[in-house]
Amino acid sequence: MAGIQATSASGAVRTKSAELFARAVDLLPGGVDSPVRAFGPVGGQPLFIERGQGARILDADGNEYIDWMCSWGPLILGHADGRVVAAVTDAVISGTSFGAPNRREVELAALVRDRMPSLEMMRFVSSGTEASMSALRLARAATNREKIIKFRGCYHGHADSLLVEAGSGALTLGIPGTPGVTRGAAAGTLVAEFNDAASVEQILAANAGEVAAIIVEPVAANMGVVPPAGGFLQRLRALASSHGALLIFDEVITGFRVAPGGAQALYGVVPDLTVLGKIIGGGMPVGAYGGRRDLMQLMAPAGPVYQAGTLSGNPAAMAAGIATLRALDAPALYDRLEATSAMLEEGLRAAANAAGAQLALNRVGSLLTPFFTAGPVSGYAGAMSADTSRFAAFFRAMLDRGVYLPPSQFEAWFTSTAHGEREVEATIAAARQAFAGLAG
Ligand code: PMP
Repeated sequence: MAGIQATSASGAVRTKSAELFARAVDLLPGGVDSPVRAFGPVGGQPLFIERGQGARILDADGNEYIDWMCSWGPLILGHADGRVVAAVTDAVISGTSFGAPNRREVELAALVRDRMPSLEMMRFVSSGTEASMSALRLARAATNREKIIKFRGCYHGHADSLLVEAGSGALTLGIPGTPGVTRGAAAGTLVAEFNDAASVEQILAANAGEVAAIIVEPVAANMGVVPPAGGFLQRLRALASSHGALLIFDEVITGFRVAPGGAQALYGVVPDLTVLGKIIGGGMPVGAYGGRRDLMQLMAPAGPVYQAGTLSGNPAAMAAGIATLRALDAPALYDRLEATSAMLEEGLRAAANAAGAQLALNRVGSLLTPFFTAGPVSGYAGAMSADTSRFAAFFRAMLDRGVYLPPSQFEAWFTSTAHGEREVEATIAAARQAFAGLAG
């Protein structure tokens, strides 16, 4: 596979990124701190990002890109939003961490509950992984059952029991299960098919009285974006209730993105527990899990289920989340996100059609994936039918034209409020050329 060269096809110099990467591979496995960043799936070496502003990022060599990855979702306001930067600065000058209660935890919790009332209580942690792992521990404790149901291609972070048929980087790199996970940890994880309620029903019947929880991304976004089929989430709700299992929505990506109240508001389904991350941290390390009061009261010190964190509820991270959620209250903001995202979708579709490129475009609000397949993509099998080498070629062609996409076919593109017509038009212009350059 052709790599990302030290000098791009368009002549952009990437020598500083190349030098940094050469040092990084000696110090960090694969040169990165999270696998998909390494550009392996699309070929070659990653760029080192020096700064971001609004919808744009600059690499270490000073090349500018329109960024449709937005740090994998947290940056719904774009990079270095003035309100977020001011809030974090204000917090940091008073101390970076106390390991003791601070007012911002209470403030952010209240803002989250106002917007997502099913979170009667919540616990802040430092990542989405920690949040989903802890929510499952709570579900097991509350039900006194050990098994969980997850969906093939959904990703909930890298906790042992969740790295079974997982999406995101695990799927992209072909390691949806991984060495190092014990048979015991994996055995309790039962895998159903997304958008196939019958597969859930079968598993529940075969494991009667043993399933603690069904955990799902209400909009799958880690095998590329796959919307829930009509009635699917409602069916999960009914099945969980009738089998005494808890329903957990992993809204790490969808939370406060697909609607002001997340996917649970958009689709009108109330889960027992919700996992959050990304946007509630405004680009700082934050996760949260929350839900029914009777369940959350089981968490220590209110109850017997242990979970803790030195940096949990960190004041600077809480400040970023507070500023982000407040900013999202601006009137018509979600309409604007929808308009920008719709324009991007339509432009990409037209560009692909003009070039005769087969593309299945899935979009839910400001989440979008163009799959390189005739489609439709309504589940795992459809996503897997995508031609990843064509995506890789498209990715490199876009990067050479100053457009930064998530470096994998099986990820979502993220729109922010900082993106507008200018960015969409430049992206479509680049896409026209990129599609035309794809052989066959
Ligand atoms: N759940 C979902 C739906 C995610 O997309 C992710 C990460 N992309 C996680 C959980 C894990 O979050 P983190 O990377 O913060 O651990």
